[in-house]
Formats: sequence, structure tokens, C-alpha cells
Amino acid sequence: MNSGYSLILATDLDGTFLGGSEGDRTEFYQYLQHHRDRVLLIFVTGRDLGLVKELYEEPVFPRPDYIIGDVGTSVTCGKTFEPLAEVQNWISDRWQNANDRVKALLKDEPGLNLQPIEPQYRVSYYYDPNAFRDSTLDKLENAGFDAILSADRFLDVMPKGVAKGPTLLKTLAALAVETDHTVVAGDTLNDLSLFDTGLKGIAVGNAEPKLVDRVQQMPHVYISQHPGASGIWDGLKYHGKTLD
Ligand SMILES: [Mg+2]
Repeated sequence: MNSGYSLILATDLDGTFLGGSEGDRTEFYQYLQHHRDRVLLIFVTGRDLGLVKELYEEPVFPRPDYIIGDVGTSVTCGKTFEPLAEVQNWISDRWQNANDRVKALLKDEPGLNLQPIEPQYRVSYYYDPNAFRDSTLDKLENAGFDAILSADRFLDVMPKGVAKGPTLLKTLAALAVETDHTVVAGDTLNDLSLFDTGLKGIAVGNAEPKLVDRVQQMPHVYISQHPGASGIWDGLKYHGKTLD
């Protein structure tokens, strides 16, 4: 693996790398493409692999080196789409095929609806903030799972200790790259674990207020006024990680 990267950008997609105006996105994508060989680009997203692949159809879209998908429960190479075995095995060991167990545990909990997806290493619900009970979270914790609420809408039941941030750290370790040049970026609470890594961070201008509340006191996180892709670019300048 090339260790001479000037920048390792680990970014969320929806609202972050895909956020902001089309003009700003295009300009940022072209900038990245121009310096592509000096950048290790990692997407860290709630999307599954299929929904990331759809983005490849747009010609200007920078293709990532690695895709951490499914809120941190899958890791694949951005070119071959092969799993990064070392990290994927860690995730599946932590999960132990718990999908049916989680669904049974939560079947009578109020304010929950299963999302129409079948991810392998997590269970995803929509939740209604008015009906949802904190006791549901206690139940999950007692059963040995982590839970991530985001955007006042999504509940992800996760393998204990697995989230975007921990999976990113495992991925960087597996790739044996220096982490000094790493910058993470995100916009919702499911990105909080990226900022909890202590790596340089960017919360983009459209970040949900609950995320901003949590990162406000973190000196390594820059809160941009600019939305989406232009917020990332602004944050890279702030952190001294521009490529020219
Ligand atoms: Mg997002």
C-alpha cells in the first residue's frame, strides 16, 4: 500500500460528500480527481454497497479506494468490491448472526418500524421520536448490542463496539497507513463515532444540531459554515490539508 498519501479523507456520503450545490460538488470532485494519486479516499456511509455503486455511473464522481458501508458494518475495496477480510471478520465475529435475535427482542417495542433492507451485520429501523422509549435502548444494551440513533429517524442496532469510527481505525490499521494525514467528515449523529476517534474532523454546515452539540467542545473538530462538499473543502483548508 502506498504510504505516501498527502491526505486520507474518510467521509460520510449523504449530506456530506454528496451534500451542497451541484456546482460546489463538481468543483470539489474535480479538485480531488486532479490529485487523486495522493489521496486515500474512504467512504464511510450508511449506504450498502449497491447504493454506493450507483454513484459510479456519474463520470466526474471520484471512486473511493475503500467503502465502509452499512454504518460501519461492512468494508470493501472500492475497485474490486472484495471485502477487506481482516476487518470484515472482526465485524462478523462481534455480530454472531444476531439479526433474528434482535428482531425478536424488539418486536413489541413502540415507535419502531423495520427498514425495508436486509443488512447482514446490523438491524435497521425507522423510529418515531414521539413514541420511542429510552427503555428500548436499555433493552438493547442489556442484550449486548450498541444502538445508534440519527436524524430523528433512524435506529441502527449494531454489533457491540462497531460503528463508523472503530471500523475506520481498524481499516487504517489493516492498510498499515500513517494516520497523521487523516481527516474525517460527517453531518449526522451516526458520524459521531468518527469524531470520537480523535482524528482531525469536519462537521459540515448542514450538520444536524444534535451532532453539532456533541462536537462543539472537541478541539480537533472544525465546524464549517458551508454545506456538504464545500464544507469538506473548507475544513481541509482549516486543517492545513489542501493538496496544491
Ligand atoms: Mg450523512
